[in-house]
Amino acid sequence: MTHRLTHALAVLYALTALGLARCAVVSWQNGSQSFALFFAGASVLLMTATIHHSWQRDELRYAHALLEHASRPPELPPAFADQIAIGWQALEETCCLRWWESNETEHGPGCERHRSTT
Ligand SMILES: [Zn+2]
Repeated sequence: MTHRLTHALAVLYALTALGLARCAVVSWQNGSQSFALFFAGASVLLMTATIHHSWQRDELRYAHALLEHASRPPELPPAFADQIAIGWQALEETCCLRWWESNETEHGPGCERHRSTT
């Protein structure tokens, strides 16, 4: 349900509660206390439901904002992101594990550069 529709629904609830309050007053003025009490109770109940509806709408918006914030990936500090980029570049230039471990002096037996140098 869109925010505009839930807002319109809350306004309709409030207007209906006011109409019930008016019915309570008219019933009281015409001597029907039982109907006046019924309409007054229904009006109070509907106003309470309207306030509760508004509170739930705010809670839903807050939960939605929390979920949206939690679902975002964490932002890395620029220096850390640069270090990761340098690390990836070094890994892309690595041909084999032996070359990496020997500080770029020897190639492993399965490496293409090992075959070309022997
Ligand atoms: Zn190699």
